[in-house]
Amino acid sequence: MYTKKKSRLVFLLVFGMISFSTFAQETPLSMAKPIEGKENWQAEIPRPKQDLIAADKLAALRKKTGKKPNILWFLIDDMGYGDPGFNGGGASIGAATPHMDRLAKEGLKLTSTYSQPTCTPTRSAILTGRIPARTGLTRPILAGDKLTKNPWTDEMSLPAILSQAGYSTVLTGKWHIGELEGMRPFEVGFDEYYGYYAAEKEISQSFDKRRYPDLVLDPFKLNAYQQMGASKDLVYGKKGGKEELVKETTGTQDMAQADQVLKEFSLKKIKEFAQSGKPFFLEHSFMKVHTDVWASKEFEGKSASKYPYKDGIVEVDAIIGEIVAELEKQGLLENTFIFITSDNGPQMDAWPDSGFTPFRGTKGSAWEGGTRVPGVAYWKGMIGPGRESAELFDLMDLYNTSAYIAGALDLIPTDRPIDGINQTSFLLADDGQSKRDRIHTWVETQLVSIRLHEYKMYFQVTESQDPHLMIDQSTVTKTGLAPWLFNLYLDPKESRVMGHALSPWTAVLAAEAKYHAASFRKFPPKDVGLGQ
Ligand code: CA
Repeated sequence: MYTKKKSRLVFLLVFGMISFSTFAQETPLSMAKPIEGKENWQAEIPRPKQDLIAADKLAALRKKTGKKPNILWFLIDDMGYGDPGFNGGGASIGAATPHMDRLAKEGLKLTSTYSQPTCTPTRSAILTGRIPARTGLTRPILAGDKLTKNPWTDEMSLPAILSQAGYSTVLTGKWHIGELEGMRPFEVGFDEYYGYYAAEKEISQSFDKRRYPDLVLDPFKLNAYQQMGASKDLVYGKKGGKEELVKETTGTQDMAQADQVLKEFSLKKIKEFAQSGKPFFLEHSFMKVHTDVWASKEFEGKSASKYPYKDGIVEVDAIIGEIVAELEKQGLLENTFIFITSDNGPQMDAWPDSGFTPFRGTKGSAWEGGTRVPGVAYWKGMIGPGRESAELFDLMDLYNTSAYIAGALDLIPTDRPIDGINQTSFLLADDGQSKRDRIHTWVETQLVSIRLHEYKMYFQVTESQDPHLMIDQSTVTKTGLAPWLFNLYLDPKESRVMGHALSPWTAVLAAEAKYHAASFRKFPPKDVGLGQ
């Protein structure tokens, strides 16, 4: 019976003839249910008991402080799952991370946290709660791209929600979700923005003559590159105001110091927040440790390894320590929800001075190595110390969770699919469990894999002829007669397909793909000119 059903589903899936007419019932193996009145949102596993515990904890804190809680995200660029000590890296791979390790130890370590495969998709997904294929922000917006519409105009960004809920909202650091007028952080919901729009390498390569002499030492080529118009300078913007130049970037030394400069801004804002008494949402978004990494003056040679990437890890860790210490000094720590993560897996094309993941694949792919990222939830007095969970957490869940913590869940639109889940009770209840049992991974405009419980199925795979060149020298192919299925408990490195050894789950995941795809039929993806 199962086998017959399975082979039919697999056949339909492989040949792209999925019938949507049966979309309605949930996937077998799932306990998740749509929330009443929010049927367009991702279904959740009901956890009423822990929801009450979390609500009571929040109410008690509110009574004590008289204020809404603050929200602080640390978003590190391209840090690998295995880089921080709390995930087995740290000092053992030449770059100790005592500050992050302490926060992980005194908070909740989430060992199954998932990002999107690259920067722009993750950064947009966590601020919209939506899979990038829905919003059109499927890949980095590059100089020369002709956008057909501003993807933000009909999105409800988290900072817009939190502003309505009375918060000060600030983004410090890297943006990378569009630098055209109308798409910049202070135009899409943040009160203030202080940072660099582009990624480290996009800025630094026009100054790095040792690595790119053919560009930097050739005036014609350099001029042509600069004519493409990518932003390279440190800028400031305030809601309703104009972009201001803070500092022109004149060399790689500016990139080396960038995170120190950004840190000073966040420290200054925290002092101001303490003065104003207004609740705040601060997204501190590092430039490091995206390639190419230059150590700052303060951190050169500070890692045991002495290599720039590793010095960068030590620096990022120290900055997190300093910012958290400032919160404590200002008396804000106990009223601040903190989350530490990376926007995607390590970029291994820059190997050997690059990140580390114990999993297969790297940034750019849907493999565990590309999308399974470090995750730490810390909240002094609110999240029990020493907790660890392997249950699923999607970084998009930060959208709903942060809105709920701010008492603003009702401001999330119900007229469209929302892929994030409010995971507050998973994080706050001492024995809280995840309300999510599946992760959908899209690479640009394609649904590439689905994880349901410990089973992960691929409809396309990224493969490389060189283990380190997953971006530069890789091919993406559709799987053959059957999708590739792995059991991540038995085979966390996804080394051998076991679809026919564990065949029932192939059918279950194929059914989930069908269920998920149906929501895209009901709500067609937005085309903003980046490809659909
Ligand atoms: Ca990134």
